This record gives sequence, C-alpha cells and structure tokens, in this order.
Amino acid sequence: MAHLKRRHLLTAAATIPWWRFGAARADSSVHYDVIVIGGGTAGIPCALFAALGGARVLLIEKSPALGGTLFWSTGQIAGAGTVFQKRLGISDTPQAHFDDCMRINEGTADPALTRLTVNHAGETINWLADHGFEVMDGHPVTGIGHDHFLTRRYQQGVDSGLSILNAFLPSLEEQIARGTITLLTGTAATDLTQDRTGAVTGVTATNTAGTRDYRGGRVVIAAGGCAANPRLFEELHGVPLYATTAYPTSLGDGLILGMSAGGAIVGGEKYASLPGLIPDGPRYPAQMFAWAPLNPAIRQPWEILVNARGERFVREDHPSVHQIERGIYRQPGHRHWAVFDAAMLEKSDPIIPGWSRDRLASEHLTHPMFYSAGSLRELAFKAGINPSVLAQNVADYNQQLSAGAPDPFGRAYRPHALSTPPFYGIAMQGWTLVSFAGLSVNGNLQVLDSQRRAVPNLFAIGEVIGAGATSGAAYTNGMLVTPAITFGRLLGSQLARV
Ligand SMILES: Cc1cc2nc3c(=O)[nH]c(=O)nc-3n(C[C@H](O)[C@H](O)[C@H](O)COP(=O)(O)OP(=O)(O)OC[C@H]3O[C@@H](n4cnc5c(N)ncnc54)[C@H](O)[C@@H]3O)c2cc1C
Repeated sequence: MAHLKRRHLLTAAATIPWWRFGAARADSSVHYDVIVIGGGTAGIPCALFAALGGARVLLIEKSPALGGTLFWSTGQIAGAGTVFQKRLGISDTPQAHFDDCMRINEGTADPALTRLTVNHAGETINWLADHGFEVMDGHPVTGIGHDHFLTRRYQQGVDSGLSILNAFLPSLEEQIARGTITLLTGTAATDLTQDRTGAVTGVTATNTAGTRDYRGGRVVIAAGGCAANPRLFEELHGVPLYATTAYPTSLGDGLILGMSAGGAIVGGEKYASLPGLIPDGPRYPAQMFAWAPLNPAIRQPWEILVNARGERFVREDHPSVHQIERGIYRQPGHRHWAVFDAAMLEKSDPIIPGWSRDRLASEHLTHPMFYSAGSLRELAFKAGINPSVLAQNVADYNQQLSAGAPDPFGRAYRPHALSTPPFYGIAMQGWTLVSFAGLSVNGNLQVLDSQRRAVPNLFAIGEVIGAGATSGAAYTNGMLVTPAITFGRLLGSQLARV
C-alpha cells in the first residue's frame, strides 16, 4: 500500500513536469487573478480552491516538484467534527478544540487565527477524506509526541505528509489540464512588483529561461518558513539554529519577499525548544545523530537532567512535555545532559527509542556526545559540566531518595539511586524543525506592516506567517499543517470571489 502510494506520488509529480507546464508555456502578458508563491502544504490548496472558485491562477514553485515540507512532515492534523471521529463515535466541537490548543500553548497563539483554524479544520479533514486521505489504525488519538488534547481529534495519514499531498494532486492536475492553474515549477519568485501606492501588482520570477514579471490581482506568499537558513533564523529569533532538521527549501524566501513589500515580522520571541536532540558533533547547526524524546508519556525517566552548571532544572517526569521543553529553553544554550549510571543502563529501557542497551553502551566508547567515566567528577570534566555541582546534585538526589524525602522539583518517578559506576552522560540540545517568526497577518490573512495596516493585495499563509501564530510558544498538536491547509482552502475560495 505504502509502495503504491509513493509510486502514485512520483507518477503524479512526473505528470506535472515543468517542461510541459513550465516557463515556456507561462504567458507573462496574461493578468492572473491570483498568483501563489510556493507549491507546498499551504500553496497547493490555495491555488486549487482559487481555481475551483473560478479564478485564473499562477502557481510558482521553486523546486522541480510540488509538495514542499509534505515530503518530510509527519503531517499530523487535528479537527473537530470529522468523519474519522464519527466513525469512532467521538463527539467534539471547534470550541473544545480551541480551548485545548490555548491550554497547551498557555494562550500564546494568536486567538483569531486559532479560531479561524479550529472553525474550519473539520471541513479540511473531511475534504481530504473525500479525496482518498486515510488515517493510521486507531486514529484519531488525543496525542502522539506533544502534550495531549483532552479529546481524540488528532490524526496522521497512513503515509504521513505524503497522504495529504496525494489527496491534493489529482484535483490539482485536473485544474492544470483545464488551464485554470498555470504551474511554473523550477521557478523562484525573486521580487514583488508594487505600484506607487505600495499595492502589490505582481511577481518577478526566475528560472532557466530567464526572469519575467507576472501580473496578478492578488499575490499569496506560501513559500514556507526559514528553519533551513541559519543566518536568517538567528536574526529573527535571537537564537541560533542548532540543528538542520527543517525541509531544505525552508530558506525564508517568503519572509524576505514580504518584508521587501513592507510586511512586518512578528513572533520570533515565541521560539520553543524541542528536547533531546543528540547532535552529530559539537558544532551547530548540527545534524541529528539520535533523539531522546524525554517525554514521560513515552518512557518514564530513570536518569536525571542537568545543565552545564551541573544543576538539575526540571521535574524529569513532568506529565507535560511542554513544561520539560520550557525548562530546557531556560538553560544556557538550551544544552542539557542526561546523566545515569551502570544500574540504570542495565535495568531501564534505553533512553533512545529503538536502541539496544549494547548500542547505548558502545556509543559511549566512540561518539563525541556520549561520555562515560568511573566517577561523576571525571564524567563532568569530560562532558563539560561543572564537576563539583554535578557531584553535589547527584548526592542530594540520592540522599532525598533514600530518606523518602520529596524531590525538590516534585519528581515522583525515582526508581533507582544514581550511584553505580561507570557513570554515563549524553549531551543533548534543544532544537526546532520550524520557524516561529513570520509575516504579520490579520484575520483575512492580509500581510500587515509595522503599523498593522494591510499591504494592499498581499496575503500570506503557511509557516511564512510563523509557527508562533497558530502553535504559539509551544508545539501544539497539528497547529502548523492544519492551519496551512485550512487557510489555503479558505483564502483560495475567498480570493476567487473578489
Ligand atoms: C520533519 C517535520 C515534521 C513535521 N510534522 C508536523 C506535524 O506532524 N504536524 C504539523 O502541524 N506540523 C508539522 N511540521 C511542520 C509543517 O509540516 C510545516 O510547518 C508545513 O508543512 C509548512 O507548510 P508551508 O506550505 O508553509 O511550506 P512548505 O510545505 O515547505 O511549502 C513551501 C513551498 O514554497 C517553495 N518555495 C520556497 N521559496 C520559493 C520561492 N522563492 N519561489 C517559489 N517557491 C518557493 C518551496 O520549494 C516549497 O515547495 C513538521 C515539519 C517537519 C520538518
């Protein structure tokens, strides 16, 4: 089944080749009703629904194939009132979805954009279902890797993000064949044209055939985030890009285009760290060598977590992984070390899912992020942790455990003292795969300037508006892919009516 789906995807991508619908066929004398920059998660539904509503659409995609981050994304989405919920007899409402999102992200997401998402997310998922999207066994669920919802409304397609792309491509191809959508792949939008009043009038785009201006009534930026562009990411978030885990096309072109037309950037302060990335080496941005979820819903912790000063800083078994993430965020460089001993290695499930104990032990002999030593002080010295503070913190942990005294951080799961050499430490890094800063938009998805005035004719959807807009300063279940598709649908239909 998975094999067939992937073949279908490749076939679908291959039947929309740039040489058939590409630069040679796009007519720059045509005035398009809508120009969409970026053929990914948000841009595809936007172009499709604009065309279905009767608009003449130009879809510009930089890569040779459509899909963007859907090629990598797990594509977990959430919505209330879906056919998948109905199948399992689950009752749910957009209000309950809204409340759950705002509870998880502690009210840090934009309420209007969250409301817009949850009010239409059910329709989005039902549209996908009507077009062949099928969910994994047992889905919808309350949660997977992040803090759970209170209701089962969260699902993943059987082929992750590709299930979503596969649901879109046949309809898109139909519109391209009809000539309602002109597709330019292998073509980068490099500039926005504006009239004297600042109103956007079109897009300048470049491909191997050259550079041309395309005129459009409305321009939608859907070119993704910037979490594959270390310099821009750090500039907008004030935090280095610690790991390269975003889709490689997420270079921030859309943010730069929007800024160049007067759009303001917001949300960098909502940066949120995921826990437990083990880098391939001691520099950044690093590649992910391995990942420890540090999520008690997945595995109860045996080890302790410390910072570079050798201090514990969080309740390691906190029922909210979001709170563990916030704890890590507050540590210098978002660095954290899991420290454990020989007894814990022998008795616990390995901290890295899918690893055997032997693998975990052997990495400590060779990998630069895994340390082992006969004493805690030696371990700390090797790992770059303050030795005396680490030794004191471990002694306190052991003493409180043996005395039956409460843990100062409120930790309840303390299965073993940390006292049997050799001792182990794994250096871990807070990280992200999305960018939180993005173009400021209003509830109509119009790009706003720093005075919150709309830049005429310019709209933005998807991660280019920043993860902070809909996910807040947190990883709120599905609150990137769900709004990307939902806003694409809504905006495409709305622009077709203008
Ligand atoms: C590994 C991974 C897992 C994830 N899992 C989830 C999840 O389960 N649930 C969730 O909600 N979120 C998840 N996310 C985040 C989510 O997938 C993304 O935020 C979302 O897919 C971004 O959609 P987008 O349309 O903004 O960008 P994309 O889907 O990346 O599309 C942008 C498109 O614009 C194109 N482009 C860029 N520049 C230009 C230019 N100058 N001209 C023309 N085209 C251009 C790109 O080539 C790309 O095709 C995940 C992210 C990653 C990396």
